[in-house]
Amino acid sequence: MCGIIGIIGDKRVSEEIYIGLNIIQHRGQDSCGICTYNGKFHLQRYEGLVQNAFKLGSVNRLIGNIGIGHVRYPTAGKGGIEDAQPFFVNYPYGISIAHNGNIANYKNLSKVIEKEYKRIVNSSCDIEVFLNILAHNLENSEFSIDTLKNALIKTTNEIIGSYSVVAIIGNYGLLAYRDPYGFRPLVFGKRNNNFIFSSESCAIDTLGYELVRDVKPGEMIFINNNREFYSEIITEKEFRPCIFEYVYFARPDSMMNNILVARSRYNLGKILAEKINSMGLKPDVVVPIPDTARNAALAVAKKLHISYQEGLIKNRYIGRTFIMPGQDVRVSSIRQKLHPVKEQLKGKKVLLVDDSIVRGNTSKELVNLVRNTGAKEVYFASYSPPVRYPCYYGIDIQTESELIANKMNIEGIREYINADALIYQDCESMIKAIKKDTKINFNKFCTACFSGDYPQKIPHNILKDIADDRKKKI
Ligand code: SF4
Repeated sequence: MCGIIGIIGDKRVSEEIYIGLNIIQHRGQDSCGICTYNGKFHLQRYEGLVQNAFKLGSVNRLIGNIGIGHVRYPTAGKGGIEDAQPFFVNYPYGISIAHNGNIANYKNLSKVIEKEYKRIVNSSCDIEVFLNILAHNLENSEFSIDTLKNALIKTTNEIIGSYSVVAIIGNYGLLAYRDPYGFRPLVFGKRNNNFIFSSESCAIDTLGYELVRDVKPGEMIFINNNREFYSEIITEKEFRPCIFEYVYFARPDSMMNNILVARSRYNLGKILAEKINSMGLKPDVVVPIPDTARNAALAVAKKLHISYQEGLIKNRYIGRTFIMPGQDVRVSSIRQKLHPVKEQLKGKKVLLVDDSIVRGNTSKELVNLVRNTGAKEVYFASYSPPVRYPCYYGIDIQTESELIANKMNIEGIREYINADALIYQDCESMIKAIKKDTKINFNKFCTACFSGDYPQKIPHNILKDIADDRKKKI
């Protein structure tokens, strides 16, 4: 999971990219980077948060009216500075690229690139592989829309996984491309004759652009230096956008595929409330796990006519636990991150509402935290179904053995997290809630981590490579 921004405008774009990256910082905190172009490429990449990494004046040195930016959360590779995006090749034309996604077969492709294309892959970041294949497919050609289109089709044919891409093609313009399943989000906006692409619409709104629409799955959009707009669907599969974006990852004020994320979470809470009611539970207070679960918890409280309280206060200076690499860091940061409000929990039957239960450690710590604060009973509700399967399309839901719902039934999980009751949303209700009150132009989401229904099959040897990689990271 990562966040990307691409802008082509009539003046220097680096400040807007910097602000945009701050706005989508929740999509990755590992590293960040900006590349701009004014006849030469200007590239800066750092580890850490955008506002800490870019020093005063460094953004001003990124000159040019075309640029791309990236915040990274590693799903492939080790995650050091050498894996920070954007990436750059100087031949042909000069291309700089950034993506959000996960190229599942990048290891195999790295070998092909080095052996057959005689190119060096210098990092363990998957987009470097995409970039080298694209560059190989473009070399020795005069630039044209058709050349670019054919090279992208050839590149797509070699790649397994997800990718929403923005790229600068030196001297020619700005490219945006979304994989044919459309796993990862990508939207674009316009202000006068300036264009912006972003993983989420919240950055487009904040920067004063008007949201135009989602980039369609398999759609290539190219805007040349005269800001002439070209678009075509060049690769076609069944559109299967990631449902987990609505559950957890995206900001609530973002629109994706015509669906406001906040509204989808509120609807998830409404449906969950019916299930809680049918189980005969009578909590005194509903408490969200901040920040993601607020909309859903509010809906639960409203529907069940129960008091909603912010019973856990978040230290906003600690990063999102889910995207902390490595278990030791994850556990210690949970304890530092949330502070229980005794007055709102003591002596009460508390219903905690969270977006999901992945490994179970966070949920267990939260239940114990609330119990030790004096709650009479603690119920735990997840507004998404049990996470049973790994994700190969860009979210760090890892090996099956790490997923608690893969190892235990619901009663076992309840016992493990030490809750008096455990309520899960079911998959059908989740889909119904997210689709509610909206017009969408596709039939199915990707729900693979909940259902095991993978839209794009991953060959066995690639699965083995990924599992080996992930074991090394744990
Ligand atoms: S497997 Fe889950 S997290 Fe991954 S793309 Fe599909 S729904 Fe999203």
